[in-house]
Amino acid sequence: MKKLVASLLACTCITLSANAQAKYKNYQDSINAVAAASEIWTTVPEVKAGKFINEAPSDAIILYNGKDYSAFHGRDGKKVGWKIDPDGALTDVKGAGDLITNQSFGDCQLHVEFRTPANVKGEGQSRGNSGIYLMGLYEIQVLDSYKNPTYSNGQAAAVYKQHIPLVNASREPGQWQAYDIIFKAPVFKENGDLDKPATVTLLHNGVLVQNNVNIIGPTDWVTKPVYKKHASTLPLFFQDHGDDGNPISYQNIWIRPL
Ligand code: MG
Repeated sequence: MKKLVASLLACTCITLSANAQAKYKNYQDSINAVAAASEIWTTVPEVKAGKFINEAPSDAIILYNGKDYSAFHGRDGKKVGWKIDPDGALTDVKGAGDLITNQSFGDCQLHVEFRTPANVKGEGQSRGNSGIYLMGLYEIQVLDSYKNPTYSNGQAAAVYKQHIPLVNASREPGQWQAYDIIFKAPVFKENGDLDKPATVTLLHNGVLVQNNVNIIGPTDWVTKPVYKKHASTLPLFFQDHGDDGNPISYQNIWIRPL
């Protein structure tokens, strides 16, 4: 019986791959098509945000204050490859890898300021792309979404491919912007099943753009979000998207574990 199932599965795989080959020029094309199927294109209203001042409160853990990045490490034990600019901004260097916190966090209030490049290059997802991966799994999209159409569930302040922001509060390229994130980690049962999904509230430049939404599972470009039991705290990271037109900068990053 096992052999029969195995051979049936093998046949199915061969047929699928033959079909995929017939429909798409190559494997990458078929991946691109699967990724495109989860894009949502709609019009997100624009609002002009007010100015902001948001210094860290006394009980916050400072992750970056314009002077040193010792709260972070690179991937696979590598050193941080990002650079500190003369103005104190911490700027991604193409291919330097993600910026990962040494400390682990779960429920938290997180303040982050970011600046997409003033020198605009690329379009859509190739313009100022980065991301804040809460617990290393749940991405709040960072992107230049000022007059830069892309799929709405992948624009700035989206919970990537899960929740479109309520409005587009993006500032012009080259200006500092802020995210204030209130995150609750998912809760799992003893047997690994999900008890409560993660939730997130997000203010973009002081404007509410995600209102206590349920995160469906880990965010990804292609694969569907499916929760898998994990620790109650994990490191978070800032994404190096790794292509041209994306030297994102960060400053004034602080966090309050809740
Ligand atoms: Mg991203």
